[in-house]
Amino acid sequence: MMNLKNIEDQYGLNLFAKRGIILVRGEKTLVWDDTGKKYIDCTSGHGVAGIGHANPAVVDALTEQAKTLITCTGSFYNPVRAQLMEKLISISPSSLSKVFLCNSGTESVEAALKFARLSSGKKEFITAMRGFHGRTMGALSATYNPKYRTDFEPLVPGFHFVPFNNYDAILKTVNNNTAGILLEVIQGEGGVHSGTREYFSQVQKLCNERNIILIIDEVQTGFGRTGKLFACEHFDIQPDILCLSKAIAGGFPMGAVLCSEKVKISTGKHGTTFGGNPLACAVSLATLDVILKNNLVQESEEKGKYFSDKFVKYDLKIVREVRQIGLMIGIELKEKSQKYINDLQNEGILVLAAGQSVIRLLPPLIISYEEIDIVIDNLVSVLGAQK
Ligand code: PLP
Repeated sequence: MMNLKNIEDQYGLNLFAKRGIILVRGEKTLVWDDTGKKYIDCTSGHGVAGIGHANPAVVDALTEQAKTLITCTGSFYNPVRAQLMEKLISISPSSLSKVFLCNSGTESVEAALKFARLSSGKKEFITAMRGFHGRTMGALSATYNPKYRTDFEPLVPGFHFVPFNNYDAILKTVNNNTAGILLEVIQGEGGVHSGTREYFSQVQKLCNERNIILIIDEVQTGFGRTGKLFACEHFDIQPDILCLSKAIAGGFPMGAVLCSEKVKISTGKHGTTFGGNPLACAVSLATLDVILKNNLVQESEEKGKYFSDKFVKYDLKIVREVRQIGLMIGIELKEKSQKYINDLQNEGILVLAAGQSVIRLLPPLIISYEEIDIVIDNLVSVLGAQK
């Protein structure tokens, strides 16, 4: 067989720290490598495969829509797009009434920033330390980690970083030129840290009083990941803009920006060629159907609790803290996590890092209790073996 690793290393732009295995197939919670070895995928492809890999509803929607109409730009009406827009508004926080469809998380943030500047007539943004919002120049300007930012400066001006979940810091920073405040409800890349109800209610009040656009980034937390359909629901947040992507379309690339009446934007001010294409819309509709009809949001809540209740009982010495909200789980270690992530992979469990010391698990919401037990057994044997 050709050496696929060499070929990818030769022709790919070495941008990803490779994990050494070649994944060739996925089904439900499992993925297989080219040697036939099976893994429980607690990464869901960075949170994308919320309803698992190769979900038949996704496959059917893709196939059917591909035979009907793949591309149709926003210049023309399309029934599948219309249906999806209506659906998204019907399931999201009640402040939201309009939709812009795009193709990725970073694009949704990029659009949100433009919409906020245009709607408020102001230029600056407040965003959080440890926050992650994407890699394009606008979204990167809102992303905190210098590792991602520094080499690309100068970035878009006007971004102020404040400690997350600290309202006083926002009060000290806000000014008459603040267009938007951009926050995750639960920071994912930043290590699975949640804000509080009080924090978000104060920020929301401030935004309402000062004509500031409250942008909530639920690219990672949306669609049941945290045990609510949207993490906003944990704290009754009514955003002016909600950024969505990842799990929105069962693995198919898609993003969405949901907007309140505060967002005012006129024809031609923003656009996209692929955004809202019927293929993505059909798959997203099928995905939402699977999530809602199978009560996956509730399952996420129950399974996440089952995981953490059981795992914390082991009281492993190496574990500093377990932070769990639905099936968004961060295990903070007292040392660097990469070695343990590799060990888990060797044992057939794929997990993610978040920063240097956090093991992050984002399993598909359809993970079974038996699979959770297997994941815990492996975590305990890999982490428990360390003194
Ligand atoms: N926002 C959040 C909260 C994310 O977690 C991510 C990706 O991890 C992004 C934005 C960027 O999304 P994408 O990688 O699809 O551009």
